[in-house]
Amino acid sequence: MQTGSFQWMKSLNKSTILNLVRLKGPISRAEIAKITKLTPPTVTNIVAELLDSELIVESDLGASTGGRKPIMLNINSSRFYVIGIYARANKIDAAIANICGKIIYQLEGNVPESPTKEQFLESLKAMVAKCVELARTDGQPVLGIGVGMHGLVDPQKGESIYATHLNLRQIPIKQFLETEFNIPVLVENDVRALALAESWFGQGRDLANFICVNVSTGVGAGIILDHKLYHGSSFAAGEVGHIPIDVEGPQCRCGNYGCLEAFASGPGMVLRMQKAILLGEKTSVWQKAKGDLSQITGEMIYEAALEGDRPAMEVLADTGRYLGIGLANLINLFNPSKIILHGGIARAGSLVIDPLKEVVMARALTDSVKQVSIVTSNLGKQAAVVGAFTLVLKKLFTPTPD
Ligand SMILES: [Zn+2]
Repeated sequence: MQTGSFQWMKSLNKSTILNLVRLKGPISRAEIAKITKLTPPTVTNIVAELLDSELIVESDLGASTGGRKPIMLNINSSRFYVIGIYARANKIDAAIANICGKIIYQLEGNVPESPTKEQFLESLKAMVAKCVELARTDGQPVLGIGVGMHGLVDPQKGESIYATHLNLRQIPIKQFLETEFNIPVLVENDVRALALAESWFGQGRDLANFICVNVSTGVGAGIILDHKLYHGSSFAAGEVGHIPIDVEGPQCRCGNYGCLEAFASGPGMVLRMQKAILLGEKTSVWQKAKGDLSQITGEMIYEAALEGDRPAMEVLADTGRYLGIGLANLINLFNPSKIILHGGIARAGSLVIDPLKEVVMARALTDSVKQVSIVTSNLGKQAAVVGAFTLVLKKLFTPTPD
């Protein structure tokens, strides 16, 4: 299998067996036949093809059930890389992983201030080039590149429809990178990619219905319904940041007033902190910002709150309450079994989560809806790049009609 000529799994049986080895490996051919109800010769043939393509390997012998000890099969963790790219507002993060999802390298790059479409694509290209070079040095073919992109994304065309933080429209990411590198490229909204990461490697494993909520510069959600990522009819599902919380609230960058994002995002928190200081509250955030209101960041508020600074703790508690209102809407609409929180609030822990849960419990409609568990992600800071390369793994391990 060569870079660029890689064929996604076109056969349902092949991808079923590959996925079974991923989930249950080490596993024997006999167990595969038993679980899939395929005939032993069919399993033997498909396994031979998968061994040939080096996606799986034979490993130690399994326990014998009387006769000869069976040969066990595993995913080949020492062949093939996948690349995950996360295009944030002004930075690009990247990770190179093996096909078991273990990160081998992590990289960081910058995007120029207010870039043109071309400059942005060049920044992406520079980052991918570094990754491809590292893979080449290790002698590993790259099976695919997944890109998690902020803003509105068309995953079918692999295009950024509207990159809010860059104020750019119609960026042909897939087409551009595939032409440059001759490697398959998949593009998805960054929060949708986070939800995928949770469903493969995090706290969403085996869950049919859960929602990932990311709170950073904006507030967005990735919704998994019946084990599938929900996109909506024009890929805009999950824009939870623009649920109205208080129509008389502050103006949101979307132009409306009182959206969840205007209260609960990093900039929303900063605004409330600035107000508190102007009203005479004494807070260590003021020292952290060296007496300059315009220098206050969300990070400073988290830091101060964790040190026990009252006004900062109050700002976080309010953030939790506002988020609680937004999440209660989601919970009443979708009835998920779990909500997984990402972003700075995940680090603030109980300071945000406790007031958030109180509001959700007060607003959730029925007792069964109240069973929802609300947790913070444990995938860490690399969650977004994990989500990006999971796009490639998902395509590799699941049958694709397209
Ligand atoms: Zn809005």
